[in-house]
Amino acid sequence: MQFPDQLSVHLKIDIAHQKALKKLGVETVGDLLYYLPARYEDISDVQSVGGLEKGQEAVVYGQLSGLKTRKAWKSRKPIAEGYVEDGSAKMKIMWFNQPYIAKMYSDGMYVKLAGKVAGSEGKLYLSNPEVEPLDSLPIDRHDSIFAGTEQQDDTLYPVYRETAGMTSRWLYHTVLKLFEKGALETLIDPIPSEILKKYNLPELKVALVWVHSPKKAKDAEAARKRFAFEEVFYIQIQKAQERAAVSAAQTYTVKTDPKHLAAFTSRFPFALTAAQDSAIQTILTDFSGNRAMSRLLEGDVGSGKTAVAATTAYAVVTSRPPEGLGKKIEYGNLQTAYMAPTEILAKQHFESFIEYFQHLPISVGLITGSGCMKFPSKADPAKPTKISKVQLLKWVKNGEVPILIGTHALIYKSVEFKHLAYVIIDEQHRFGTNQRKQLAKKDARMPHLLSMTATPIPRTLALTIYGDLDITLLDQMPAGRKPVKTTIVGPGQSKEMYDHVESELADGRQAYVICPRIEEPDPTKENALNMKSVIAEAKRLKSDVFPTWNIAALHGKMTPAEKDKIMKQFSEHQIDVLVATSVVEVGVNVPNATNIIIEGAERFGLAQLHQLRGRVVRGTYQPYCFAVTESKSDKTRDRLKALATAKNGFELAEHDLQFRGSGELYGGKQSGLSDLGMEAIRNLKLVEAARTEAKHLVDTHSDLSRAFPLIVEKVARLGEVLHME
Ligand code: ADP
Ligand code: MG
Repeated sequence: MQFPDQLSVHLKIDIAHQKALKKLGVETVGDLLYYLPARYEDISDVQSVGGLEKGQEAVVYGQLSGLKTRKAWKSRKPIAEGYVEDGSAKMKIMWFNQPYIAKMYSDGMYVKLAGKVAGSEGKLYLSNPEVEPLDSLPIDRHDSIFAGTEQQDDTLYPVYRETAGMTSRWLYHTVLKLFEKGALETLIDPIPSEILKKYNLPELKVALVWVHSPKKAKDAEAARKRFAFEEVFYIQIQKAQERAAVSAAQTYTVKTDPKHLAAFTSRFPFALTAAQDSAIQTILTDFSGNRAMSRLLEGDVGSGKTAVAATTAYAVVTSRPPEGLGKKIEYGNLQTAYMAPTEILAKQHFESFIEYFQHLPISVGLITGSGCMKFPSKADPAKPTKISKVQLLKWVKNGEVPILIGTHALIYKSVEFKHLAYVIIDEQHRFGTNQRKQLAKKDARMPHLLSMTATPIPRTLALTIYGDLDITLLDQMPAGRKPVKTTIVGPGQSKEMYDHVESELADGRQAYVICPRIEEPDPTKENALNMKSVIAEAKRLKSDVFPTWNIAALHGKMTPAEKDKIMKQFSEHQIDVLVATSVVEVGVNVPNATNIIIEGAERFGLAQLHQLRGRVVRGTYQPYCFAVTESKSDKTRDRLKALATAKNGFELAEHDLQFRGSGELYGGKQSGLSDLGMEAIRNLKLVEAARTEAKHLVDTHSDLSRAFPLIVEKVARLGEVLHME
């Protein structure tokens, strides 16, 4: 290990701090040294309270006290007041006509204040300052600043993320103490020095000093770049290893007769788009080699991923397994497993596949938590039938059912295939390498993997998170789709929107209403609050807005059967307006639903909004999207306006990455990247460099743990992080 020592070997740490550190996952010297500042505070323009003069525009840091509200004694106008103290002096603060200020902040809070110094000599006060609450005061070791002495370089202070019981200041001092105790002396840089030199990155010791205690902003930046590179590099090593393992495994080679394939696709009620055609060809080429495919198919909602899945599945299930050595010819063709994130989607795919495969002697099975089905039914060859799980699994195991569609139920232990050659995963990024292995189980051969998603991902993030996959874009919509007319609806503008939707409903169309997402730790799961907001909104719409129409709510707390029923009613137009949260049923297909109202639009990333509105780009009617925001901020409105002009989801994803930060956009910790790693993701050159070097290292060293034990140790500590949910 790089710095295995427990912190206590070098420092005395009291129990309270030990506990707090543990919460942050910091136990060893290495952990602490790699606990990097979240940001830096530049205090070159900060004044000490004691040195302020009348008329000055001042910025001070300090602690609040004595907050209260009173009425000015002549005008009776409300005044909020209090004090700020920074160690050099204490000064009064007054906010006129903002009585709520005293309630917004509390005594003892650390703040940054920016305002004008007013009053008279001896009775100075800070007038109407802007308040920015701080976790702690960045200033500490330079008490001299408070006394007004000039500082030259050291105006940059690291600010660490805190937890209960531990301040940024304490962390800073503890790191400095480690430096003083010589913690850096025995340190080995895990990154080969040629790589560092090549990209002009500081070596570890220098970088640690620069990142924790920078003299110049430039140094801090160089150090952060190094650590960002390091983080992405380890991820890329992991991905390169996964890729190498898949390449090394034996797989099924699938060779297809183009004539048969053409006959299969000619039955589609549409002509394939050029993008679909080329995606299919790419996949078939992968199939024909002797390495298992690992491919991500990225395409907007409605771009026709299911047809690509069906066509390539056809190629697989019409192929024979390799001849056993001298064994008798085996029964059954190669098999395909197709996994969807929800029962509704699994059923929808099952129904699509029945249409695609009904003219062939190919059975299709469906397995979900609430039961199993098989097509065709023995009694009526044009229909599917319910069957027992035991029966279905028996047929899957003996190869009689070559296509199995399902939810998570597909990867249960009891599900065994005879010759599983192809795994298709829809809208479920978290299923990766491990799940493929799980599905393959005892089968010695590695199945080909196609992962499909409608989430537009910036290139850098895709290269990192999906570093082990090849990426194919479905960047073309079927002909005849009308682009969505998108309107940003600000405060007080909802009447027009509702009038429009009303007229659409009267024309026989349907509408979705997406309720604002309520912040929650895991945005892929729904909580009770979101359910409440959906139910409340459905009620409000029924009583105040669309009293004559049928309105129903759909949320994640319903049972699959309840959801199913609602979706069925919606697709049969027994329901006119469907109120739902953003996470349910990403891929549902109801061509007559041409209106979507998205409440609280500012809470979503643009790419997500784009994905949501994709639900209405299905039929031949003009689709409409209303992005509703209560925000009065111009910035928010401007950001949303990009929705109306952007050409595709990828453009919006890049926009999100630059302007919002991917952490926020992709649900914080979901990607497993640190804040710094997320910063790195904005830098295509850095990501590409890390990727190139990692690949090279893995390709040229058959035993990486021998050559680079420190790197391998770091990679092992990454765990199974980087599959986005
Ligand atoms: P997604 O990419 O969102 O999974 P689907 O596969 O569900 O999209 O396709 C959406 C709809 O578009 C389906 O009704 C499908 O039959 C239809 N579709 C697919 N490909 C084409 C095409 N090339 N031309 C016209 N319609 C198509
Ligand atoms: Mg789909």
